[in-house]
Amino acid sequence: MRFAEARHWVFDMDGTLTIAVHDFQAIRRALEIPESDDILHHLAALPADEAAAKHAWLLEHERELAYAARPAVGARELLHTLRDRGCRLGVLTRNAQELARVTLEAVGMGDCFDAEDILGRDEAPPKPDPGGLLLLAERWGVRPGELVMVGDYRFDLECARAAGARGVLVNTPENPWPELADLHMPDCAALLRHLAGG
Ligand SMILES: [Mg+2]
Repeated sequence: MRFAEARHWVFDMDGTLTIAVHDFQAIRRALEIPESDDILHHLAALPADEAAAKHAWLLEHERELAYAARPAVGARELLHTLRDRGCRLGVLTRNAQELARVTLEAVGMGDCFDAEDILGRDEAPPKPDPGGLLLLAERWGVRPGELVMVGDYRFDLECARAAGARGVLVNTPENPWPELADLHMPDCAALLRHLAGG
């Protein structure tokens, strides 16, 4: 089957649909973490009550980060085009589902997915485990081989391969995993042109 004929698409979120805005400087300032320390290692070494308070702050900050996310090049156009063609669209992310929904809303992609087709780290085993793709295939009533998984990292491609789906790599200038990627495109805009035959 040609990619242009695929009707069932699953996307990684961070780095694929969205560009994360991680303000590590602000986090370090707020939590008084020295420049030279790893943030999570630093918190782990603190007394329990201080570590708990700072972890809570970090969780809250993740929500702000979700609102600050920006759409990746061409992602919104690709999703809207596929949706308008009547394709089923899902998200498989290692992020939390609630934060994923907030993030997708913030970048104008929230209307492209049925809410329950956004699978986070509590709805499916983390990639590269194929469980999330198998779940969506079953829910959509198709064979896993009919799914296309689009991502920016090898876990996305390994997940596709393990499920028997096809893997598309985007947002990396080179293709470090040619043995895993069924298709490599510079970004979602190029993928959309590819699907349009241009
Ligand atoms: Mg990613």
